[in-house]
Amino acid sequence: MNRPVKHLYIHIPFCARRCAYCDFNTYANLEHRITAYVAALCAEIDMLAADPDAQSSHDTALPPTIFFGGGTPSMLTLEQLEQVLRAASRIIPLEAAEITLEANPGSVLGNGTTAPAYLRGLRDLGVNRLSLGVQSLHDPTLRILGRTHTAEEAHRCFAEARRAGFDNINLDFIFGLPGQTPAQWEATLEEVTTWGVDHFSLYSLILEEQTPLYAQVLRGQISLPDDDATAAMYEAAMQRFAAAEYAQYEVSNWARPQNHEPRTANQGNGNGEDIGLPTPACRHNLAYWLNSDYLAAGAGAHGHVYPRRYANLCGVDSYIDAVQAGRRPLDDVIDLTPQDLYAETMFMGLRLNIGVSRAHFRRRCGVAMEEIFGATLAELTELGLLEQDASAVRLTPRGRMLGNQVFARFV
Ligand code: SF4
Repeated sequence: MNRPVKHLYIHIPFCARRCAYCDFNTYANLEHRITAYVAALCAEIDMLAADPDAQSSHDTALPPTIFFGGGTPSMLTLEQLEQVLRAASRIIPLEAAEITLEANPGSVLGNGTTAPAYLRGLRDLGVNRLSLGVQSLHDPTLRILGRTHTAEEAHRCFAEARRAGFDNINLDFIFGLPGQTPAQWEATLEEVTTWGVDHFSLYSLILEEQTPLYAQVLRGQISLPDDDATAAMYEAAMQRFAAAEYAQYEVSNWARPQNHEPRTANQGNGNGEDIGLPTPACRHNLAYWLNSDYLAAGAGAHGHVYPRRYANLCGVDSYIDAVQAGRRPLDDVIDLTPQDLYAETMFMGLRLNIGVSRAHFRRRCGVAMEEIFGATLAELTELGLLEQDASAVRLTPRGRMLGNQVFARFV
């Protein structure tokens, strides 16, 4: 049975300035286009709401979700966000939804004395999950990265968000940063685990070509920790979070354990699977890891409604022009095969510590996991990279260190 797609990603491609490492689809100095962009975004969401193909044949027990990502969504005013949410409510029932907004401490505090009011306004609009791009607590590193905040401001922003009523706050951090030493990283972990944060996402720096940071590394002006040092930082994070009783539930994600749900919402679907994810686990990202269908709106946004994936035009002007001309702002539409569906269900799901449940694979793909991947599973298990039981397949600790090699075997 087909139902409306339950997950919506909304891209806000504006930033106060570009960070030195960033290759996301985002633009500085385009603030004067935000009003027109918001109008186009609402019109695109209306088109999605009316699209008969924006229906999903697959369901999970996840709640509906909306995720404002960027760019810097916190550059939008409360009125602009309200406009977009009103449009989104034609697809997603807001009262039942997890609504996440990515924010930069610099842009929130840049609102000056109105920062508390802005944060309370977000809560009043129904935003119930805030994701702050902190990245580092080492001020010289923040400056090299081109971030617009200091460590003290990041902490103040977190505290203000708590005071405003956010009880589900994620902090993003990056490791493997220019000049970063193990001692600096340890100090960051030590401090941030005392803040009472609900959720952490950690990413290893990926040096992208075409970024100022890449050019600086190439010229030898700055150096990055080598692979061994970066792997050691990841291990240090695993140990430090475990000691602070954070539960790792995905390769890059940890959540507070005190809100543990005995049965989840995740792949459970009433079939008796007892998965046990921490409550602050990001439901929107779980939809990606479960290879669910999701819609996406905004410049450069990517949506996935099997058997199709689509990508929107990246440029702000070309995006606005297409929507104003009454067209979906599509840049590319890719038809997916059942083999794509099988592979993506495996390698996205294996990112989760709970792995891929056999029942979930069958529901999503309509066929038994063993029938498609029996030989691959046996071989990876023999190599000590996967472990299996009657209900699920998951990475071993060794498989986790070699995750990309394991994922490639399913493609
Ligand atoms: S704030 Fe985020 S999206 Fe914007 S430039 Fe920096 S890294 Fe990129």
